[in-house]
Amino acid sequence: MKRPSWFKWKFRRKPPALTDCPKCGKDMRMVDKSTMSGNDMRTYRCDDCQEEHIMNFGTALWKVLSDARGSDE
Ligand SMILES: [Zn+2]
Repeated sequence: MKRPSWFKWKFRRKPPALTDCPKCGKDMRMVDKSTMSGNDMRTYRCDDCQEEHIMNFGTALWKVLSDARGSDE
């Protein structure tokens, strides 16, 4: 199967990571994590901007597991 030439480029590029600072693009370090709301919310701090950013990593693992258990019954 022949693929269009843009195919390889589209997937080679590194996707922007959630852990990259939205302002300067540098790697941030995790300072806090909370899954109380059912979402995997993590607080990252950018040492460069001296700012903290709360990132939503999606549904928390415990919520996924409890939902999966519930659907089995
Ligand atoms: Zn930054």
